Amino acid sequence: MNPTKRIAIILTVIFLIPALFFSVYEISSLNKDEEMIEDIYQKQLEAILFSVNQYSDDAVNSWVSKIELGNNIKENKNSSALHNLLMLNSSIHLAFIVDTLNEKSNIHIFSLDSTQTDSLYSSIQESLQQNTLTLQQLIKYKKSGFRKTEVIKHNLKHVEYFQMLTFVIEGPQHLQIAGLLINPQIFIEDIVGPRLQTVSKDQFILSVFNKSSNTPIYSTQINDTVSVNTSVLAKDLWIFPDYSLGIRRKGTSLKQLVRERTNTNLTLLIGLDVVLIVALLLAFRSVKREVQLAQNKSDFVSNVSHEIRTPLALISMFAETLEMGRAKSEEKKQEYYTIINKEAHRLSGIVNKILNFSQTEAGKKTLHIETVLLNQEISEVLKTYDFHLKNKGFEYSFHQSADLYVKADKEALIEIIINLIDNAIKYSAEKKRIEISLETQENAGLIYIRDHGVGIRKADQNHIFDKFYRVSSGDLAKSQGTGLGLSLVKQLIEKQNGKISVTSAVGQGSTFIVHFPLAR
Ligand code: ADP
Repeated sequence: MNPTKRIAIILTVIFLIPALFFSVYEISSLNKDEEMIEDIYQKQLEAILFSVNQYSDDAVNSWVSKIELGNNIKENKNSSALHNLLMLNSSIHLAFIVDTLNEKSNIHIFSLDSTQTDSLYSSIQESLQQNTLTLQQLIKYKKSGFRKTEVIKHNLKHVEYFQMLTFVIEGPQHLQIAGLLINPQIFIEDIVGPRLQTVSKDQFILSVFNKSSNTPIYSTQINDTVSVNTSVLAKDLWIFPDYSLGIRRKGTSLKQLVRERTNTNLTLLIGLDVVLIVALLLAFRSVKREVQLAQNKSDFVSNVSHEIRTPLALISMFAETLEMGRAKSEEKKQEYYTIINKEAHRLSGIVNKILNFSQTEAGKKTLHIETVLLNQEISEVLKTYDFHLKNKGFEYSFHQSADLYVKADKEALIEIIINLIDNAIKYSAEKKRIEISLETQENAGLIYIRDHGVGIRKADQNHIFDKFYRVSSGDLAKSQGTGLGLSLVKQLIEKQNGKISVTSAVGQGSTFIVHFPLAR
């Protein structure tokens, strides 16, 4: 397996997978925690509302007990007990006790307002008769020892929203039906309200809603206008089922609090994962680079050995031929000298390139930056190279529209141009044409060196300026080279505050573009 792939797998298995598993587990349990907290909270709210309902029921039951108690002592005493009850509880509009359900005359009404009309008697009578089933049920309960109170529909005029509360009491002779007409608004304000204030403890807002209009008729919060739907929890008021109790947290709701916490945790977890992934990618990239470099270095050693071996073999072969006097004619001798000379040049070229590279890399090379006329320098290089180029069958052109002065080191500039022309020669096949041109841009002088050779794949274009990098595919790629040329070129250019780029298409050729800072 290729080493970079292996490193990628190791990094993924050791770091990424466990971290991602952990995050997924944490994220899923975050939701569960949230649900659990909400569940507990909901139960607490229910308990609070339960206690308020219980309290209201107790209050009414104590009234009922008082009526029952008074009913069993003497007639006038009963009226005074009921009078007291009405006096102390302004929510009770009137109380009544019925002997039998059918006769009007058997209804006794107790009220602070003494003008009791006939219509009041008949309205109560009618209301009771319309609810005989319920009342019979109440009697049945009472007989089995359980006293229940029940709100029934009534048809009393002008007090339609008053609640008629009925129950069964022990009379002097037999069971009697009794009832209270209660103003719910006053009941809620006088009895339920103080209780709500006590349990709200500045942490909750408790309200009572009229279920039909859905607006709060009482709230522990001043100027509270919310509807029953806004409450986290709403329950019926047991005593008056037309009304409901609502409870919610003061300030931010628990749901919001839990949500905020969950969101923070979620963001942190995701952030952590992103950081981890980025760190792993960076680590992977640098390891990959190191592996690539090590690979390139080992290729470099074999390339260079090969590069050196070929000219050395040629030199020793022709020197030996000459030495042994095997060269027949003077012409042959001359030919061999030329070969030996050429190969020795090639050898020293390679050695120079390596030395140059190591010097530049070690920062030992000092540049002398001055104003340079590009046109002149390039013309001179081409003049020196003219024979060499033509000898190899190359045509070339140099297009220069105006004089272009740049800031550069002359020697380094020449080395750069020679390297690029050498490459253009090396990597051209049938079409042997090299075009050089100059261009001025805003702050830079540009040199274009264009060939019509083999071209460079997009994937390789990103690496050709790396140390030791050589393109490993294609016939020409196998031709001589060390993989140092373009890396050296790039280093030299950057030392002169310039830059280099390439555009290339496989089979069509490449254009290297060198930028130098303009001399003003
Ligand atoms: P070398 O030529 O010694 O291999 P370089 O650093 O000069 O090393 O070039 C790196 C690689 O870039 C070469 O192996 C070659 O494949 C590619 N290359 C450079 N110049 C050209 C060019 N003009 N046309 C096509 N490929 C090129």
